[in-house]
Amino acid sequence: MAVNLLDFDLEGLAAFCETLGEKKFRATQLFRWVHQKGASQFDEMSDLAKSLREKLRGHAEVLALPVITQHISADGTIKWLFDVGAGDAVEAVFIPESDRGTLCVSSQAGCAVGCRFCSTGHQGFSRNLKTWEILAQLWFAEHFLRKHLGTQDRVISNVVMMGMGEPLQNYAALVPALKVMLDDHGYGLSRRRVTVSTSGVVPMMDRLGQDCPVALAVSLHAPDDVLRDNLVPLNKKYPLNELMDACKRYLERAPRDFITFEYCMLDGVNDSPAQAQALLQFVKRADVPCKFNLIPFNPFPASGLLRSTNQAVQAFARILVEGGVVTTIRKTRGDDIDAACGQLAGDVKDRTNVETRISKQRTVMLQQVHSLEPREGHRTSND
Ligand code: SAH
Ligand code: SF4
Repeated sequence: MAVNLLDFDLEGLAAFCETLGEKKFRATQLFRWVHQKGASQFDEMSDLAKSLREKLRGHAEVLALPVITQHISADGTIKWLFDVGAGDAVEAVFIPESDRGTLCVSSQAGCAVGCRFCSTGHQGFSRNLKTWEILAQLWFAEHFLRKHLGTQDRVISNVVMMGMGEPLQNYAALVPALKVMLDDHGYGLSRRRVTVSTSGVVPMMDRLGQDCPVALAVSLHAPDDVLRDNLVPLNKKYPLNELMDACKRYLERAPRDFITFEYCMLDGVNDSPAQAQALLQFVKRADVPCKFNLIPFNPFPASGLLRSTNQAVQAFARILVEGGVVTTIRKTRGDDIDAACGQLAGDVKDRTNVETRISKQRTVMLQQVHSLEPREGHRTSND
């Protein structure tokens, strides 16, 4: 059976090349063709010996995920829904901003954590994605965008593991994928620009700090264990004090000197001024250098929850800021295409007319992508 080269980090690819009787440096060349140039056909790889290309044709492939739909928002946000087989689909979202291009990537089909406000959680857990399925989202998005924006420069400068799934419950597949994102011969992203977001899988936070420290976002959502137990069931296993200790340990190795705490704003549940005060006191006591990112809840009917009012979000942010904690309110992007967490993939179980949908989407997409502004090359050093 052919091996998918998207499944390897550089070390893994070198080991694979050795099994074909090839020297290690060939792996670097091959890796660059695949990730930097987006090549999927071995014949394109003109500086590889013909004999190697033939061997590769016999044993390997570069296999992407089929795209089910592509939605392009008026604000330039693009959302892809990828088919991962057996009726499951995962999504990736590209968010262009003036100084960066961010891709939000999925790590699992569904999620076992089951947070109350998350539509992925409501779908339940289907399966872990393989390394190649995580990377195929980036590979496709990067090379698609370059082609259609008419640039050779890198388009995606930041990756956030904030799509579907809990990345730290798919650790074995996640780490090689992160390594490819960071590798200078791969996507060459800085550690500060690759963010893993977790609902708080404490032991795996420790391992990530050791194996592949990248920026970390922790989904907090509540100032105390009682409420967090209710919103994020994993809290019963790893309560807030343990989570804060893990954050401190992570910071000893992290590329940034703060943790980003995400906080999904739910009307009448976790958004009162008293809860903002309690949260402020909690993080001060915990003594974890942090920033807050308040996320306006994206409602979906089965949740029975509502988005906080703008006034409530503003008032909540003000209390944190006045208490000395840097706080941002996430802009809602791509609202017109439901580019928020887990909102589209639920529809996919209905697979009728997928083919028609794909071809229609393709036409729309090509028209719209051409109207996106050409982007300048992104800075690579830091923010
Ligand atoms: N499982 C990881 C990463 C994926 S979720 C985690 O929970 O951190 C990425 C972020 O989206 C998390 O902060 C999560 O709390 C948030 N989120 C999930 N559902 C949401 C919704 N309906 N509206 C707003 N944010 C949501
Ligand atoms: Fe899973 Fe994250 Fe959704 Fe919670 S918020 S159910 S951890 S994807």
